[in-house]
Amino acid sequence: MLADHRVIQQPFEILINTHRQKGNITKTLAHIRKIFRDTFLKSISLSVVISCVTAKGAIGSRIDYFYRQIPVNLFQGPCSVSLRSHTCGELRPEHAGEKVALYGWVQYLRQDLFVILRDYSGLTQVLISQDDGSLKEKLGELTVESVVKVTGTVRRRPEGQENTNMPTGDIEVLAENLEVLNTCRKLPFEIKDFVKKSEALRMQYRYLDLRSTRMQQNLRLRSQLSMRMREYLCHQHGFVDVETPTLFKRTPGGAKEFLVPSREPGRFYSLPQSPQQFKQLLMVAGVDRYFQFARCYRDEGSKPDRQPEFTQVDIEMSFVEQAGVMALVEGLLQYSWPPELGGLSQPFPCITYSEAMRDYGSDKPDTRFHMKLVDISEVFVNTKIEFLKSALGQSEGSIQAICVPDGGRLFKSKDLEALKETARSVFGQVRHTLESKEARINNENIEGECWVYCHRLSTMHKKNDDGYLPFRPLLGKLRLQCAELLEARGVALRDPTAFHFLWVVDFPLFLPKEGEPGSLESAHHPFTAPVAQDAHLVYTEPLQVRGQHYDLVLNGCEVGGGSIRIHKAAEQLHVLKNILKEDVSVLSHLLEALDSGAPPHGGIALGLDRLISLMVRAPSIRDVIAFPKSFRGHDLMSQAPDYVSEEDLKPYHISVTWPPAKTEEK
Ligand code: ASP
Repeated sequence: MLADHRVIQQPFEILINTHRQKGNITKTLAHIRKIFRDTFLKSISLSVVISCVTAKGAIGSRIDYFYRQIPVNLFQGPCSVSLRSHTCGELRPEHAGEKVALYGWVQYLRQDLFVILRDYSGLTQVLISQDDGSLKEKLGELTVESVVKVTGTVRRRPEGQENTNMPTGDIEVLAENLEVLNTCRKLPFEIKDFVKKSEALRMQYRYLDLRSTRMQQNLRLRSQLSMRMREYLCHQHGFVDVETPTLFKRTPGGAKEFLVPSREPGRFYSLPQSPQQFKQLLMVAGVDRYFQFARCYRDEGSKPDRQPEFTQVDIEMSFVEQAGVMALVEGLLQYSWPPELGGLSQPFPCITYSEAMRDYGSDKPDTRFHMKLVDISEVFVNTKIEFLKSALGQSEGSIQAICVPDGGRLFKSKDLEALKETARSVFGQVRHTLESKEARINNENIEGECWVYCHRLSTMHKKNDDGYLPFRPLLGKLRLQCAELLEARGVALRDPTAFHFLWVVDFPLFLPKEGEPGSLESAHHPFTAPVAQDAHLVYTEPLQVRGQHYDLVLNGCEVGGGSIRIHKAAEQLHVLKNILKEDVSVLSHLLEALDSGAPPHGGIALGLDRLISLMVRAPSIRDVIAFPKSFRGHDLMSQAPDYVSEEDLKPYHISVTWPPAKTEEK
């Protein structure tokens, strides 16, 4: 049928000419599609414009989108609808002889001979012929980071001049024309991954910082992962992507929220810390399965793994149990996980909150290494050591230790000082350390030479001036510090390429409120349902109730959390009013909704920024967010938050006591 077909490649827009068109157009196009699928779709996804043209003119034209599931590939990308013929990372020896048009930034200028051109996909060496006076002149005027268009011919580099460190290092483009599209001023820093710059400078000139290979890769990985997640949720599990408002009202019992003034005196919106209420309302509305890449806001200041605005993959389902939500998330991660990072084995291990606290002193344990907390009380039953004796004499007193393999040999006195200092500042008292020999006597858990870190501990709480401090988290802190110290001494303790997912379940539903003895707060949030067997205790012994709450932990960081919800208004009212002592009028709409035929439902939210930062092993979530805020929650590029004039504040009925000097963050 295709007597003569020529493929004019611009690059992925493909025009097929059929000089003699017989038969029906649908069949022809199907045939052409098959050719494309077999020929071009080996490595990438692409959109194709197919036009069938006869001598009399076009008889059919359509755009077909072909999608092939591909491993996350950070470098390849189509040039569709672009002026370029290829990207700067694309050319290989098989392109030799081809005429190409490249667009990019000048990365390097070398020996008055070469321009190294860069775009997101990589670098290409462009050779400027010494015989062409006008080209040489342009080269002389070029500055790095200017934007240029180069047209020329691809050729193999002369033997011996290949650069094996460059994916395009076997070829170069012999320039026929070079057009400067925009010149670049002198920049505050060089766009080279090896050039160190402070985070403040990177943030101030974020648009330059984003030119780095690493940031380009991070943003692309994020985009690809999000796409795969959407596919999995929508196509494989029938989820509906629904957007929910960001101008909302205060949700009780959670993080501090940002306020947004309204023009009505004294009335403010709140930016939601999560779409929790809306997603539950969507279940009442019969949406059945909801998800959203939701922007959430918490006015809590930035930390390396936190920032005031962040993105959650927010999920809610009706008629589901805890195991169902967990299975969904495991499938979601498996489906979207970049193959380069290695496979994920499933199901993820699962431990209870009490096991996590007992063994690791943390509800988000890093399980890439052992060094669990061990109870060595038995060893000291007959001890004469005074502080140990007194600990064991207390009700529920015990001696806990962290066994650090080879710690006795590896830890220098500086390390021990650091541990003692943590103990002093965190425990608020002097710690006692014992050499292994003493503890090893008859405890099987402690093998070989080790350093034992002992602490007098009552399993409940130690009282101090501020109220109650739980001990196990403090021991958990020491465990992590021991790991860091060992690593600093050259021990390969945590495999940097390993991804240890872990579910933590059976959290207490309520915890004593920090700083307010006698009051309770939700361990997750006030909408979490109790474990069925404990439900009756909600009315009698709330502290004994376990919640249907599950957290997903990756390498010691919480990357997700969710719960099965209370779906009955009376139970929700009891929790809010009688246990948490919240003002229920704020949530009357939710209570009414629960009383209007709310289905049993549950869900989870995954912290997308944190998940990706762990995947790419970035030190901070700011490395996977295009325009993050600084530590103090500022945008260092635009200087937001900004001052607003009194005039502009009038409509909001707000008056401000202005600070004496407008000091800027650095
Ligand atoms: N809204 C919760 C959170 O942001 C997650 C959930 O329970 O689904 O932590």
